[in-house]
Amino acid sequence: MTTKVLWQSVLGEIEVAVSPANFTTWFKNTTLLQHQDGLITIGVPNIFAKRQFEDKFHSLVMKTLRHNGVRVRNVQYRVRPTTSDIAPAAPARAGLAPPVIRSTNSSLNPRYTFENFIVGASNDLAYTAAQAVTHEPGKKYNPLFVYGGVGLGKTHLIQAVGNAISASNYSLRVAYVTCERFFKEFVASILSKKPFANHYRNADVLIVDDMQFIAGKEKAQEEFFHTFNTLHEASKQIIISSDKPPRAIPTLEERLRSRFDSGMTADIQPPDYETRMAILQAKTKQARRSVPLEVIEYLATHIQSNIRELEGALTKVFAHCEMRGLVPTLELVEQMINPPTIKYRHITAQNILEKTAKFFDVPLDDIVSPRRDKEIAEPRQVAMYLMRVELRLSFPQIAKQVGRSDHTTAIHSVNKIENAILNNHYLRQKVFDLKEKLYV
Ligand code: ADP
Ligand code: MG
Repeated sequence: MTTKVLWQSVLGEIEVAVSPANFTTWFKNTTLLQHQDGLITIGVPNIFAKRQFEDKFHSLVMKTLRHNGVRVRNVQYRVRPTTSDIAPAAPARAGLAPPVIRSTNSSLNPRYTFENFIVGASNDLAYTAAQAVTHEPGKKYNPLFVYGGVGLGKTHLIQAVGNAISASNYSLRVAYVTCERFFKEFVASILSKKPFANHYRNADVLIVDDMQFIAGKEKAQEEFFHTFNTLHEASKQIIISSDKPPRAIPTLEERLRSRFDSGMTADIQPPDYETRMAILQAKTKQARRSVPLEVIEYLATHIQSNIRELEGALTKVFAHCEMRGLVPTLELVEQMINPPTIKYRHITAQNILEKTAKFFDVPLDDIVSPRRDKEIAEPRQVAMYLMRVELRLSFPQIAKQVGRSDHTTAIHSVNKIENAILNNHYLRQKVFDLKEKLYV
């Protein structure tokens, strides 16, 4: 059998195994380039197709080759320039550009893919269910109801399903809508006294995010109930996310609750340590940065609540370092994540006297003595001023601290320093410096 005939036969089998759209898009334009010692090379038209084959169709190709009597050790895919006709369903801009993900008013964010979704113990059930739905929309888990706390990846996961389905099957209409938007559109139609043009009923795959928003909105629940039934009866896939399971959404109509419960319900839990590490490492790589392992470990240990915060902390570290041309170190990140809270140590009048004496380099005994020469008088006045502003002592108390019985001395001294600070730059700086030293 020539390679050409062999490949024809393989394609014949694959054609009945996958959907027509998948076949036309991915298989039609392929050739068997090489077949040597069990190593098979398949020519594919572009890099995007190569990835699809590697990620998605690899086992199917292996299996079908074996089925056709080939002893396969491995299959590889090579991009080869195409001159031949481009399959009709393939994107017009074949060549090297990836197909544009078609959106039927779906507002899917292309950033949310399975490829960059890290799977760990906390989300693997939801992930597996999402994968199953992607491969057979409308068949297996319908509806798929994903729930979990904020920032744990619900939106990412359900949009990944939408993106993957759109990418592999152009004929399917994927609609993504937040529950809030659904509600707003519904209300707008009521206000304008027009019937609700519910185009979501025409979707092949309907993804509704943050379903908990429907709580207490009776009319919208009713509208959604009918949308749900229309789609469900036609075996269209419905995917829902919510921050809590159906039974915990308050004032959710019973009939809607039982619909939501009728398919597959999967939760997403906060990520465990390993998953947090994996996410940080993946995001670092995506950002093409290098961050010491101890920094990643520090973040994974200290930020546990959710993935959005984990991501946010990492972004903050990148931005901080980039702006200042720094390399992220453990010390730096510790400070950023857990800035030391400034602890005001309690200080006493005696502390002020001692530190002031030391600062002006005069003996403490002289400060509390009757000496009146400027060299001593000024530090004494500053000490009194600090007792007033830092400790809020009364004037008689202040006078007593410096061995004076007359409190007018204290009033006079504090006033004098207050004025001097306003007018005398030199003294202002001195008092400022001394103040700093009081608390260390
Ligand atoms: P939710 O909808 O549950 O509030 P999101 O889907 O908006 O959470 O996720 C918050 C952020 O964390 C997004 O930027 C998302 O890409 C990221 N994220 C969540 N889960 C994962 C994961 N498993 N792997 C990689 N990134 C994730
Ligand atoms: Mg969300």
